[in-house]
Amino acid sequence: MNKRLTRILAIRDRIARVARFRPYVRLLGKIEMEELQAIADHERNTIVLTTRLVDRLNDDELAWVVSHEIIHLASKHHVKRSADATRVSADISQYYDKLCHWLDNSGRGILVRIGGRLIGVVALGAIGQVAINTLTYPQEKEADVVALSLMIKAGYNPEAALSALGNLYGGRLPDLSILNVMIGSHPDPRIREHLIKKTIRQLQQGRDVFRESQ
Ligand SMILES: [Zn+2]
Repeated sequence: MNKRLTRILAIRDRIARVARFRPYVRLLGKIEMEELQAIADHERNTIVLTTRLVDRLNDDELAWVVSHEIIHLASKHHVKRSADATRVSADISQYYDKLCHWLDNSGRGILVRIGGRLIGVVALGAIGQVAINTLTYPQEKEADVVALSLMIKAGYNPEAALSALGNLYGGRLPDLSILNVMIGSHPDPRIREHLIKKTIRQLQQGRDVFRESQ
C-alpha cells in the first residue's frame, strides 16, 4: 500500500473509533478531480480526497477534513439535501409556469415572450441554486462544529481546523459573501472560521457543542 494511503487510513481509523462510524477512503489524483478536494460519497459510504490535499495538509488538518466528511456520512446529510432539492425544484417549476402563463396572457409579441421565458429560466435556476446551497448551511455548520469534538476525542489538535480551512481555499480565506451564496456548497469561509474559533473556545470550557449546534 502506498505511503499516502497508509497515512490517511491511520487518520480515518483514529477518527472512526471515536465517531463509531467507519467509511471507506478513496484517493484521487488532481487530474480526475481538479476543483473538489474532499467529498462524502454517500452511495459508496466513502470519503474521497485528492492526493494534492493529502500532501498539502498535516495529520491534524487532515483529521478535521476526515471528521467533517464522516459527520456528513454518519448523519446522512444527503437525505435532507435531496429532499430540499426536490422541494426547491418543484417550487421553481411552479414559478416558471406562472411566468409563462403571465407572458402568454400579456399580449406581448412572440420575441418578448421567448426572451421573457429565457430570462426566467436563468434567473429562477440561479435562485433555486442559492436556495439549495443556503438550506445545506446548517448541516455544514454541524459538520464543522462536531468535527472539532471528534478531533479532540481522537487526540488531534482542533486549532488545526483553522489552517486546514485556509488550505482548502488555497492558503488564504477569500471574502466571498454574496458570491459565495451563488457558488458555494459550504457557508462563507469567514463565517466558518468564526464558528470554528468560537467552538474551540467552548470546547476548552467543556461545553456540549453538539447540543448547541442543533
Ligand atoms: Zn461539508
